[in-house]
Amino acid sequence: MRREAADTLRVWEIPHDCGISEEMCSYTTSCKMEQCQRWYVSGHFAAQLEDWGRWCIALLIVLTGFCVPCHAVRLAEGEVPCHVSVLPVFFVPQDEGAPTRDMQDKLVEHIGVAQRCYRRMLKSRDTFTIAKEPPRIVHAKHPVDYYEFSRRVGSKLESVSEILQAFDCNRFNCPYIFVIVVMNSRNNVPAGSGRPFNRGFNNGGGWVFMSSYGLERLVTFQKTLNHELGHSFGLAHVSAYGYDMNKSRSVMSYNGNLHWDDSQPRKDSTILLPEEIRALAANRKVFARLYFDSKVDVPLVYKMGSFVRLALEDEIPGQRPFTIKVKTSSGEAHGSSVENIVHGLITVKGQRSPKIRSAFDPHTMWHSGVTNAGWVTVTVTFPVSVTLCKVCIHSQYSGQYHRATAVRVQAMQSSGFKDVCQQPLFTRDAFIEFPPTIAQTWRFHFRAGTSRQVVIRGLRFFSPGGEIFCRDYPYNPDMF
Ligand SMILES: [Zn+2]
Repeated sequence: MRREAADTLRVWEIPHDCGISEEMCSYTTSCKMEQCQRWYVSGHFAAQLEDWGRWCIALLIVLTGFCVPCHAVRLAEGEVPCHVSVLPVFFVPQDEGAPTRDMQDKLVEHIGVAQRCYRRMLKSRDTFTIAKEPPRIVHAKHPVDYYEFSRRVGSKLESVSEILQAFDCNRFNCPYIFVIVVMNSRNNVPAGSGRPFNRGFNNGGGWVFMSSYGLERLVTFQKTLNHELGHSFGLAHVSAYGYDMNKSRSVMSYNGNLHWDDSQPRKDSTILLPEEIRALAANRKVFARLYFDSKVDVPLVYKMGSFVRLALEDEIPGQRPFTIKVKTSSGEAHGSSVENIVHGLITVKGQRSPKIRSAFDPHTMWHSGVTNAGWVTVTVTFPVSVTLCKVCIHSQYSGQYHRATAVRVQAMQSSGFKDVCQQPLFTRDAFIEFPPTIAQTWRFHFRAGTSRQVVIRGLRFFSPGGEIFCRDYPYNPDMF
């Protein structure tokens, strides 16, 4: 019964191909999450080592046997990065040579130009972060023809799987958007493409694919990189909002007048549409400081389009799917599905858009059966173990029916389900907090009121670093 998109929200199919870094830790100093502190320390430590010079690094290795990590501290399986940065990667098929130093420098320079371009388009409020590390070189398991980048669907997913293995991370805990340049001396394959690892707008890293042929020979490389980075941040093409792909000034168009000559725009400057700024603002892990302000970002006479999210294949070879499983033994009344509590849109009473109803909607809500015990139960299983410390519970519909009046949270441990917290709920949109607890499977018991039924419009989950496994569309009543 789960519906992928509500009436005013759309899923946009991404085509197969389309055609000096900031201080990494400027934001992490305010983040108290342990993993961010580790990043902060490792990033500055690496910077200091750079200043001391290579001989000092060698001396350290020889004297202490301590190997300076070439990439940041790896997160545990169930940890989710609280910040995602862009990292250049060269993917070297077996029959191709490694990138020269000039090529590496050129790619870093292009990414720096893209970073400044996004800062300008975002009116200096924010831009993406570039990882402190030098470009990473990953040696592929096969020759370039094996991948058949221009013909075989899934070849890029297979390459991404190899790269994730090389980084010893997975689609959930990877703190990078990889800008992957495939070494290919013969032609511009793969053509540019990009996407996030996971659905939604704020669910971790992603990738961009380009070719070394393009990096060395094509003047459109910069324009394409800027565009594909937009996809990796979760942006769709402007056509998804009804604009002409060949005339729009957006970076997410194909407007030929906006092509760049190397690093300089030939004519005019690219922009971000208000809808695109709003979507980037929802990607808190990439644009931590960016807030969408309709007074600033939306022209006076302008009809805002709805949220459009990319339709992505869930399957990445060797990676678990980005799917939360939900079960209940408390019934699924009135055609509703319990899966609705973790997917799709959370409806909000009093939304300005008349198309998004606050009345009961079996496509976006879960309606329990009648309980004689006074409580209903759902079991939620994440694809990996997660650390939760806060949950937001959205219950009730039409502002008056079937609100949950209390919640009891349990986490599956080796000895069975253990109680984490129990507390009353006084509002229909209630946050509950509890000590950080690690588990893959969680059980939520909701106490019914006098109706002996409960309606849940959605659950949202938080780790110490922020919201995790974010829903397909961001929850923000002001955005509609
Ligand atoms: Zn595109």
